[in-house]
Amino acid sequence: MHQPDRETLHTEEIRKIQLARLRKTIRHIGDNNINYHARIGGVDPEEIVNLSDLAGLPFLTKEDLRNEYPYNLVCAGMEDIVRMHVSSGTTGTPIINPYTRNDVNQWREIMARCLATAGVGRNDVIQITPSFGLFNGGFGFHYGADTLGAFIIPIGAGRSSLQLQFFRDLKTTALGAIASYPLRLMEVAREQGFDWSDTELKVGIFGAEIWSDEMRSRIEAEMGIKTFDIIGMTESGGIGMGIDCEAQEGIHVWEDHYLVEIIDPDTGAVLPDGEMGEMTVTTLTREALPLIRFRTSDITAVVSRDPCSCGRTHLRIERITGRTDDMLKVKGVNFYPKQVEALLLGIEGVGMDYLIKIDRVAGRDSLKIAVEADDPEDVKLAEKLNRVLQDYLGVGADIELISIGEIERIPGKAVRVKDTR
Ligand SMILES: [Zn+2]
Repeated sequence: MHQPDRETLHTEEIRKIQLARLRKTIRHIGDNNINYHARIGGVDPEEIVNLSDLAGLPFLTKEDLRNEYPYNLVCAGMEDIVRMHVSSGTTGTPIINPYTRNDVNQWREIMARCLATAGVGRNDVIQITPSFGLFNGGFGFHYGADTLGAFIIPIGAGRSSLQLQFFRDLKTTALGAIASYPLRLMEVAREQGFDWSDTELKVGIFGAEIWSDEMRSRIEAEMGIKTFDIIGMTESGGIGMGIDCEAQEGIHVWEDHYLVEIIDPDTGAVLPDGEMGEMTVTTLTREALPLIRFRTSDITAVVSRDPCSCGRTHLRIERITGRTDDMLKVKGVNFYPKQVEALLLGIEGVGMDYLIKIDRVAGRDSLKIAVEADDPEDVKLAEKLNRVLQDYLGVGADIELISIGEIERIPGKAVRVKDTR
């Protein structure tokens, strides 16, 4: 562990720290930004007596952040801002998250914890494949690995052949990536006859996209590594808010830095542990853009607040199932793309790529799924996929088997759904 004393705090101590830091954050907002303070009802920190009082404060949405572009909610003087990142995948007005020096150091700390949780240390060689730019991924890995004293290969996105060459020649032991990038690497490796057993790779730390357990097993088997699911977003200060551990029984969220609630996305009510809902994030140690009840749109549930077999005591949440704005409604049935992925990839003969196409034909929803398969002529496989989807999701789909490589590979996050309704 990077910080064993913090990572194994007794639950009651964590609650005390959270309450003190929540009050401090509210005071910080009140002292630095009248506009933001008014948005949270002008609340006095002393009015927050218990953590449950947080539920009385209003939510903050992505739309709110966008409307306050670029700096209307910033709680620090511009002379104290040292860098920024921008939320990815958005169209129109971007969401800017500026960092103070303390924010950068906070990021270092949580990323170092995450990488250490994945087993990365000063003897490791980490190849950082997310881009170094407005997207926070590259820099996040960099700060964490730098703190731990690992050897950093800041290669950034793309150049898959060179990536493979470096894995082998530079004896890379850890790979940081956007979750769909390992698929590209595996594909290029197959084309080039690259043998993963010629590398020293032992761990992969993947995030920024939703990836199923089935995808995880396939990556682990083919690359011969253990994988770790890392969470976090631009708004929360970048990746590193949490990660799953060796036990793979939920994602630990660093509770001395973040307070998460799971709410009913329709009513806004806080849900009991175990129930699926939308995660909100309240930051407890961020200065430039603190968040109070930020609606992440990520769907998850609290798995456990008990100490984990890894020794850490910070609560665990389910791996992200979907996003509120990702949920598909076809022929009256609601489901997430990840559920489709899990069903498809659980079946032999199916490749790693697929595209869900939804359209409206003659006033009715039409669901087509293009699935890359080892044998695109395999009629029985197509029938089987249709049956499995019907059984588990309650909706049938027109399955179109295609050859491996037919779906367009694009840099950055993978496109899995085309909804043209
Ligand atoms: Zn654990």
